[in-house]
Amino acid sequence: MTAVTEAVGRDDHYCVFGNPVAHSKSPRIHTEFARQTGQALVYTAALVPENAFSTAVHTFREQGGRGANVTLPFKEEAWRLSTRRSRRAELAGAVNTLSFEPDSIIAGDNTDGTGLVRDLAVNLGMRLEGMDILVLGAGGAARGILPALLEAAPRQLVVANRTGARAEALAAVLCGVGAIRGGGFEIVGRQTFDLIINATSASLKGDLPPLPDRVLRAGAWCYDLMYADEPTPFLRWGGEHGAGRCADGLGMLVEQAAESFLLWRGIRPETTTLLHALRFGS
Ligand code: NAP
Repeated sequence: MTAVTEAVGRDDHYCVFGNPVAHSKSPRIHTEFARQTGQALVYTAALVPENAFSTAVHTFREQGGRGANVTLPFKEEAWRLSTRRSRRAELAGAVNTLSFEPDSIIAGDNTDGTGLVRDLAVNLGMRLEGMDILVLGAGGAARGILPALLEAAPRQLVVANRTGARAEALAAVLCGVGAIRGGGFEIVGRQTFDLIINATSASLKGDLPPLPDRVLRAGAWCYDLMYADEPTPFLRWGGEHGAGRCADGLGMLVEQAAESFLLWRGIRPETTTLLHALRFGS
């Protein structure tokens, strides 16, 4: 919580709340966005004990904080704390962006899905409309991305998760938005897909969700929400099983941050240069 108390001059103060949070690239990203757009703001990272999220948010607000990002493990708690939620946050059941507004309003939004779809469609040039898409995982990240993926009008979206009931429940909530079904990994069956998105945390431990050998169509894409200096196990699997292209989630990270910045400051920063710098270390 040290970062919260280091209030910073007259610049507007934002932060990211998480646990752990030391690895977060958000302070660098938002500081660069502020420099690029000429906005006077300071953005810090705040490590919050697991039982102290609500207190941390209220304290930060009382100290003049204007808004915050929320990362693991607090996105669902941020949803509960929000006194007003966007439609996409409501659908996701998780919030990654808080804006402190007059009359004690805490506005909650979720920019993860928009960030992913912008990375896929704008940065990577993918046309999602009409695609058959498989999403692996039904945790917080999957909840955030599924509504935006459905709104991009794929032909079908299949959600497969280790705990099948979680994927089934997600699909039941979202079936009014588009063609979606969910279940355990066996739901994949003999189908093939144009795009597989790994939204599990398996890569964090060097694991790979169980996938049939012939699940990728010719030229199909593999996308891992996790990003790392080396290809993740899932992206290596994609390369070995004929994926046309593989990408990690660094672009999503930058794009979801740009969307949060837009919500707070009313201006969308340019992302290409920063993404290149983060990717290639310049
Ligand atoms: P989470 O809420 O903890 O959910 C974890 C998911 O992974 C659950 O569906 C879980 O299945 C599944 N899982 C865990 N270990 C597995 C294994 N060994 N095999 C198969 N499935 C496994 O985590 P999250 O917040 O959704 O995050 C998921 C990933 O997305 C993380 O790598 C995170 O870094 C990444 N992420 C990236 C961005 C970005 O901007 N690029 C944004 C958000 C998240 P069960 O339900 O069966 O437990």
